[in-house]
Amino acid sequence: CGIIAYTGSKEASSILIDGLHRLEYRGYDSAGIALVHRKRIRCWKAAGKISMLEQGLPETTPGHCGIGHTRWATHGAPTDANAHPHTDTDLRIAVAHNGIIENADSLRAQLIAQGVTFSSETDSEVLAHLLAAYDGSLIDAMRTVLPKVQGTYGLAAIDRNAPDTIVVARLGSPVILGIGENEMLAASDMSALARHTQEIVHLDDGEVAELSPRGFHVTTMDARPSQKSSTQLSGAL
Ligand code: GLU
Repeated sequence: CGIIAYTGSKEASSILIDGLHRLEYRGYDSAGIALVHRKRIRCWKAAGKISMLEQGLPETTPGHCGIGHTRWATHGAPTDANAHPHTDTDLRIAVAHNGIIENADSLRAQLIAQGVTFSSETDSEVLAHLLAAYDGSLIDAMRTVLPKVQGTYGLAAIDRNAPDTIVVARLGSPVILGIGENEMLAASDMSALARHTQEIVHLDDGEVAELSPRGFHVTTMDARPSQKSSTQLSGAL
């Protein structure tokens, strides 16, 4: 189980797929990526090996901003539909989540009562629908939704309304930011970042970060800025 995210000037899909391969050793049963391109989100996912995901990708997958996930199923079988990223019904938001949402059943029941249709059996899908219920920025949505969520998460999300922005958050599941030149990455593990940058920032529990090609900023859940210092990886590729 792992997450990887990229925003910059390069083609995101190959960076995400490479990152997923570097996270393989952590174990997984399915994988997927989501890209935002021309204000549209597209998702590809597959149960089984990452090669299954790669086989299902079209010849070109344009987009300079996206997220990827390797899943270790906790809620719902390892199927294509349960693979991440998960989206809301309008495909405005895509989310990749590591961890467990303990109160997913009650959140899901509330959403279903509001007329939301679910397309997977995962605990994670509630996040996409809850985030999409807010009109403001994705980071504001994240800071509103996450306090309602019990459990653990390392997560990365994209929003078609902010097509070069990624929001990540952490509680009990690692998230590391990678600072590049006019590009930013995030991953659950530095092995997926080392090829792209030597400069990393560890997100702490309870922090939310917004990443774009112009840089990043980290806040606490109640929107106070967190002062973060970066660390240099020592040549380990
Ligand atoms: N609980 C989520 C699921 O079963 C995420 C599992 C993971 O960490 O990969 O889909």
